[in-house]
Amino acid sequence: MKRPIIAGNWKMNNNKEGTKKLIAEIAPLVKDAECEVVVCVPFTDLETARKAARGTNIQLGAQNVHWAEKGAFTGEISADMLAEMKVKYVIVGHSERRQYFGETDATVNMRTKAALKAGLKVILCVGELLSERESKKTAEVVTRQTTEALKDITKQELKKIVLAYEPVWAIGTGRTATSQDANDTIKVIRKVVRKLFGRAAAQSVRIQYGGSMNAKNAKELMAMPQIDGGLIGGASLKAEDFAKVVNFNA
Ligand code: PEP
Repeated sequence: MKRPIIAGNWKMNNNKEGTKKLIAEIAPLVKDAECEVVVCVPFTDLETARKAARGTNIQLGAQNVHWAEKGAFTGEISADMLAEMKVKYVIVGHSERRQYFGETDATVNMRTKAALKAGLKVILCVGELLSERESKKTAEVVTRQTTEALKDITKQELKKIVLAYEPVWAIGTGRTATSQDANDTIKVIRKVVRKLFGRAAAQSVRIQYGGSMNAKNAKELMAMPQIDGGLIGGASLKAEDFAKVVNFNA
């Protein structure tokens, strides 16, 4: 049995005080969760979040990582730096990074490898734009993104990767993919993993859905056979909403 994983992506929200408060509110609400619980906070909140989450089942995540070990990369953060902060998961290839910061399939692959090398686990995002969906290119896009992101990754390393299918048009828009659509596209992604790593790896890799997942739709989405978790933006900023997603089975 795969353990589902629900991860909050706080994006560029919360200062230290807000971080302390939100984690203190979330912790008691998710303490009996059957799934893995992760919060991916801004770099500047990592230390506060680490302390606030101590002794709870909330794992610490970051939202990006650079591919180089060190050097002249102004404004970037290395995987070793994150590991030193006790970060367990890092989001790589989020659509906002692809859209606004020039992230490409190649840099997603480089960042993934750097994170794995430093012992971090990766939440690797793929997903199509609205225009790509409308021109029926969803399968082609997620196949390309997944293949490129996983280039030269070993079967052993894949165990440290969680894939996240996030249709770009569903992120922050309140528009969710239907559970059937999400399931179907995740099936395509799983097929890519099967082609690259074999049947067993494809079965055991966890693939999240992300895109306006919330307290109301989490149960239905999580009931789909291909969906192994959720990457939650907006709804992860309110303790009760996030907890309802985490406790989707309750
Ligand atoms: C996200 O940013 O990964 C996300 C899914 O956002 P939202 O839940 O707000 O759509």
